[in-house]
Parts: sequence; structure tokens; C-alpha cells
Amino acid sequence: MQEKTEKLVIIGSGPAGLTAAIYGCRADLDPLVYMGTKYGGQLMLTSEVENFPGFPDPVLGPDLIARMKSQAERLGARLVQEDVVKVNFKTYPFEIFTDSGSVRALSVIIATGANPRRLNLQSEMRLMGKGVSNCAVCDGFFFRGKKVAVVGGGDTAMEEATFLTKFASSVQIVHRRKELRASAALRKEALANPKISFVWDTAVTEVLGDGKVQGVRLKNLKSGAESELQVDGLFVAIGYDPSTEIFRGQLELDPKGYVALKNGTESSVPGVFVAGDVHDFRYRQAITAAADGCKALLDAEKFVKEKLELKLVS
Ligand code: NAP
Repeated sequence: MQEKTEKLVIIGSGPAGLTAAIYGCRADLDPLVYMGTKYGGQLMLTSEVENFPGFPDPVLGPDLIARMKSQAERLGARLVQEDVVKVNFKTYPFEIFTDSGSVRALSVIIATGANPRRLNLQSEMRLMGKGVSNCAVCDGFFFRGKKVAVVGGGDTAMEEATFLTKFASSVQIVHRRKELRASAALRKEALANPKISFVWDTAVTEVLGDGKVQGVRLKNLKSGAESELQVDGLFVAIGYDPSTEIFRGQLELDPKGYVALKNGTESSVPGVFVAGDVHDFRYRQAITAAADGCKALLDAEKFVKEKLELKLVS
């Protein structure tokens, strides 16, 4: 028996994927959404969100995702809590595989996001959202008048630290080497900022605190000396890993592994569109991801309509 061909399959269930699903239902594309076993993306690890329009009071990250999910469900999206394990974009309609089977699709939206790299400390995960954060734009506001530390020596760390000086009384950048990897402009800006100081050749070995961050334990990597730094927040800014492993060899990726965009939301394969942090290492906000999901859907809708009108597929 020939399997049904879906008009649209969405891979991912953060704000990008769920917004694409909401718009996809209203465009009559009857979207099938592979949410992943751990659905929801980075908002699931975020506590209060204060900058998503429409919420005068703070909303918890997981609640925001739950609302987007119910909105998509109410409109008719089919949400499946499964991981996509393989794709074949070299055939058309495309093939998408999970552990329980495969489907064919006229169009695909990739919204699998990117994961912030972790220090891989147990205490970091325990205090995530309770003073440990990966996003200064999201959480900086909560550190008004407080002391914070930022880990990392790249562009993200410099940007986060500089942004945090709007709120925090002091920002200490803890970096494992003596040289910064960041671009000259961002480096200069951070070095010149009187609120920012640097702790060189040093690793964070533990985040201290019970219900909230109270400090970090540091180890000088040259001398081995250990010390404690009293801070109210720790921003881990050591880079991101886009979730693109299953697309390797199927889509063009940039040298850092993000999906390369061609035009608007198009990937290197016509009919496969891209939304959110899986291509965007610059903005990385829930609202920009949601906007991307909308744009990718509008592009997918046009693509599917043309395919159906041309009767290239039934
Ligand atoms: P990145 O350039 O890979 O830098 C990561 C930093 O974290 C490095 O300094 C690295 O140290 C450190 N690090 C990595 N793993 C660590 C660990 N386990 N423990 C402690 N430190 C660790 O990442 P990024 O700063 O997120 O930037 C990613 C890309 O986005 C870059 O291409 C960047 O230029 C771009 N970006 C651009 C802008 C902008 O143009 N405005 C803003 C943000 C990001 P080492 O230096 O010792 O390796």
C-alpha cells in the first residue's frame, strides 16, 4: 500500500516549529510536527520570560511552550513526540524517518534549534534558571544591581558581558586562556568597559548555592590555585552546537554546522525551509525564532501550492 504523502512536515517544536505549525494549519497544509522526545527547545530550560510580547506578566518558558503547543493542537496540528533519526532529501517527495517508521512530504521545515554548550557541571544544571543562564538578553534584567560572572572568551561572551553591564553592578569574565577569541571590536568594547573585569587562565569548577546561585568555585589552570567568587548569576557563553547532525550530507551546512540559507528561509534543497536557531547564531530569541517559523511557513505554502497546481504530485 502506498503511504500517504504529507503536504508539510515540521521538525522541531520550539517557538520556530510551533509557529510554523500554527500558520501551517491556517494555510490548510495539515502539518505533521515531529516535536522530538525532548520537545520545546531552550524555553523548556528558561524560567521567567518577560520579553515575549503579549504577556504583561512574566511567563515561565515551559508555560509559553505549552500555550504555543495547545494553540497548534487546537488548530489541528498533529504533534508527535518522536525524534527524526534520518532524512532523505535526495528523493522527492522527501522521506523522513523516525524509529517507528517513515513518511513522505512535499515540503519540510527544519526548526531543530541549537544547544548552548554546557560546562557539564552537575551544579550548573541544578541551578539552571536559578541564576545560571545562557542568555543575557533573556535574563539580564533580573540581575539589576547584582554581581555576575560570564564564562567564555568569544564574541558571545563579550556581547553578553557588555549587555549585562546595563543591569549588573559588576561583570567578571572568566576565561580559560589569556587571549580572547572574540573579534577586535567586541573585545575592545569589553576591555574598555569599567564594569567588566577579567579572570584569566581560569575554569569554573562548581556553581555554588542551594536554591539560587551564590557564587562560583574557580581553578587557575596555570597554578592550580582554587578560589571562590561571590556572584548572583553565571552566564555560560561558550558557544552553541546547532542540531544538524541528521542533515549532514543532505543540506548545505556552514563551516560551524548551521544550515546555510539561500534566499529568505530556503535551504540548499528546494522545498526544505529553515527557521530559528538552527540557522541563526546571531539573534537567538524566542520572538525571532517564532517570526522565522512564520516566514518559513509562508515560503513552504507557496512551494506546495505550486507543486500541487503543476500536478507534479497528486
Ligand atoms: P566561540 O567563538 O566558539 O567561542 C567560545 C568561547 O568559549 C571560546 O573563548 C572558548 O575558549 C570558550 N570555551 C569553549 N568551551 C569551553 C569550556 N568547556 N569551558 C570554558 N570555556 C570554553 O563561540 P561564540 O562566542 O558563541 O561564537 C560562535 C560564532 O558566532 C562565532 O563565529 C562568532 O563570531 C559568532 N558570533 C558573532 C556575533 C557578532 O558578530 N555580533 C555575536 C555572537 C557570536 P577558547 O578560546 O580557549 O577556545
